[in-house]
Amino acid sequence: MAGINLEGVTKRFGTTVALDSVSLEISDGEIFTLLGPSGCGKTTTLRVIAGFETPDEGRVYIGDRDVTMLKPYERNTAMVFQNYALWPHMRVFDNIAYGLKLRKLPRSEIVRRVRWAAELLEIDHLLDRYPHQLSGGQQQRVAVARAIVTEPEVLLMDEPLSNLDAHLRLKMREEIVRLQKRLGVTIVYVTHDQEEALSISHRVAVMNRGRVEQVGTPVEVYEKPATYFVATFIGRSTVLEGIVSEVLGSGMVRVMIEGGLSIVGTDMEGGLREGERVRVVIRPERVKAGSEYNGENVFEGTVSLAMFLGWRTQLKVEVGGQEITIYSDPRRAPAPGQPVRFYVDPEEAKVYRHTGSS
Ligand code: ATP
Repeated sequence: MAGINLEGVTKRFGTTVALDSVSLEISDGEIFTLLGPSGCGKTTTLRVIAGFETPDEGRVYIGDRDVTMLKPYERNTAMVFQNYALWPHMRVFDNIAYGLKLRKLPRSEIVRRVRWAAELLEIDHLLDRYPHQLSGGQQQRVAVARAIVTEPEVLLMDEPLSNLDAHLRLKMREEIVRLQKRLGVTIVYVTHDQEEALSISHRVAVMNRGRVEQVGTPVEVYEKPATYFVATFIGRSTVLEGIVSEVLGSGMVRVMIEGGLSIVGTDMEGGLREGERVRVVIRPERVKAGSEYNGENVFEGTVSLAMFLGWRTQLKVEVGGQEITIYSDPRRAPAPGQPVRFYVDPEEAKVYRHTGSS
């Protein structure tokens, strides 16, 4: 098995800079996810690792080998595509066996390996079928079996679950985690679904416009987003704009929000000064609603919208000319028009410089 290093990789398509000096260190045997909005460069990163694209600048290493100029088949990687890319005219057996035949393995070895992969993915009863005789979930399993059968050091997965229905997607998430544990293979996984990324990954790289904004464990990127982009891309949040009115020390600042609210929050980038324009990011699930709260960062507003979500109710609360999203216990949720009091822990009000660019 092998880790992967990208060093200053830049890739341009005409005038589009798909990757802008991307550096990543992916450890041996981890599930490493590239997460970001459409067009941020996730697939291009995967294709550069696979060897389907050659970087304009920078190097790619798999293990100790510089593979930057090697052909895809010289890299010992395998890719699972979003649309599965199965051969329609080949039975499942031959689809899975394809890479082994290319490598000219003896027939008995091919049969042994195909059976092993098919059993692992629980599709051994489907080996005689054609792809059009399979459900989407079964096709997905065939695609994964075909990728692992060659025993690659690195498994590259490009939005592999996006064509599956919601239930199956949850089940397959667990299977991918189990598969990785069992095989010990390094997985580089691409998704724009943040919950999928947080739930399956050892580490996540959050990408934006061809750059890496933050690399960290799922807990790190969720709890300590390094940039405003990461804070608002991961999880749900209310964003309030304002001006630093006081620097309080220990990384805390007081922010005067447009409309007159005053809130104490945490300076996430460091070095904020009085008078700087900022944005305060607050996650609804971290706001505490209840009449018992008093003092700093306690607000009272009026519910403008209540949406029952099952295990919680989402409330929009109007306060000081702003609308803040919070959650409430559905059994005690106030109705629209009713007052609600809530507390925002200063640790949970994350303050970022307002650069004006995003
Ligand atoms: P998505 O989630 O929509 O798949 P992505 O994050 O995977 O997006 P990429 O497919 O890596 O994004 O694309 C990054 C940028 O490079 C985009 O602006 C895209 O339009 C551009 N791009 C990618 N491939 C090519 C290509 N072959 N020719 C021209 N431009 C390309």
